[in-house]
Amino acid sequence: MTVENRDPWTGEIRRHEKIDAAGIERALAAADAAFPAWVALGVDGRGAYLRKIAASLRARRESIATLMTQDMGKLRREALGEIEKSAAACEYYADNAARYLEDQVIPTEAAKSYVRYEPIGCVLAIMPWNFPIWQVFRFLAPGLMAGNVAVLKHATNVPQCADAIADVLAEAGVPAGVFAVLHIDNEQTAKVIGDPRIKAVTLTGSERAGRSVAATAGQHLKKCVMELGGSDPFVVLEDADLDRTVTMAVLSRYGNAGQTCIAAKRFIVVEAIADAFVERFAAAAARLQPGDPNADGTGIAPMARADLRDELHKQVQASIARGATPLLGCTPGQGATVYPASILDGVKPGMPAYHEELFGPVASIIRVRDEAEAIRVANDTAFGLGASVWTRDKARGDQVARQIAAGACFVNTIVRSDVRLPFGGTKTSGFGRELAEHGIHEFMNIKTVVVD
Ligand code: NDP
Repeated sequence: MTVENRDPWTGEIRRHEKIDAAGIERALAAADAAFPAWVALGVDGRGAYLRKIAASLRARRESIATLMTQDMGKLRREALGEIEKSAAACEYYADNAARYLEDQVIPTEAAKSYVRYEPIGCVLAIMPWNFPIWQVFRFLAPGLMAGNVAVLKHATNVPQCADAIADVLAEAGVPAGVFAVLHIDNEQTAKVIGDPRIKAVTLTGSERAGRSVAATAGQHLKKCVMELGGSDPFVVLEDADLDRTVTMAVLSRYGNAGQTCIAAKRFIVVEAIADAFVERFAAAAARLQPGDPNADGTGIAPMARADLRDELHKQVQASIARGATPLLGCTPGQGATVYPASILDGVKPGMPAYHEELFGPVASIIRVRDEAEAIRVANDTAFGLGASVWTRDKARGDQVARQIAAGACFVNTIVRSDVRLPFGGTKTSGFGRELAEHGIHEFMNIKTVVVD
């Protein structure tokens, strides 16, 4: 079957082929066959490949950035940053996996007792389009170092990025079968999850996709990690340093055209500082010019697909209909995918902007009386991915951070994934962790050995 994708900026149509059942069978058989030799290479052997992957990513950075821009409209400078981050993650795990995978001695009354981390086989990764290289390497770098092999079902609108990853691994000399791209639809994916050669599933994407894939994985008793949406609170207390807070608010909300799970989405601002914050935030956001993602001067990228922009605008309109004030933007730009940096003020319960994830460049301002109300509103959400708190008083920020139900809470800096720190959500933002030591252990058999 041929699938058509439209370049979000130029409108150019590109086609790619989905694979059939025979293609899936070949990939799964190859993965199964490759697994024992990949394990036998050991951490050092696998680490050498990871370093070659990093080198290949860097060598191909310009061409991969072009594919990212063509597939999903990312600003070129953001694409280059994402590729470097992915290369660095490969090197990080090459450097650190041995220590994460060491046997862990736990003294008991037995002569010897310890935990040993063993790879499990082939993991299916279902990945989204918003960070089409990084999201894959965030899973793949620790996964390969763990000794697992992998197949990737990437989002339908980023096929060139998926193939570029396969090319990078091939150039690095990674043995056949250790990694494969499956251009498949969601029905085929459900069958793949059920295949006995697939031992676990990891998904980054929407709550809808998460519910469906987790249900299928559950039916087959396969472990899964779910990295789903978020509506991260950005809590501005009255003693915040406004210069830094505003700069970081703009970066967090409008980077990647707002299509980031851990972007700040609900700006919960204490009354005493609200007018000053909103005025400066709006002035800074207004300077972001939408435009060609390849042009240096472009301040905000187009959105990845027309349907995503239309859905976002519906949420904005419904929020305005229920009383929100459109302070900036809030009307689609020219072309099918452009949406300007936008701000909705006076966001309140009952509005989509209060309860739902706005996966695009629209900030929701929620004004609150004080710190206690800010914490209550920050937690008044079904999501629990990230959160940030802005205050000159670090100890106060730390105390507030501890009271917000989220997988990560950052004080005076924006939520970002960092290979050294675990990443993941709570509540409907998902479960399980990626990155750091926690991430590499997710898809391993944590085996207890007792010798008496
Ligand atoms: P999806 O969640 O639908 O897509 C993410 C990935 O999951 C894609 O590879 C997709 O494949 C796959 N997928 C979706 N449904 C299934 C299924 N039933 N079985 C197997 N695989 C599935 O994201 P959309 O592109 O539809 O974006 C819609 C919304 O999702 C956004 O507005 C945003 O709220 C959220 N989202 C969140 C992300 C995050 O980082 N947390 C990332 C991307 C989106 P395919 O493309 O073939 O459908």
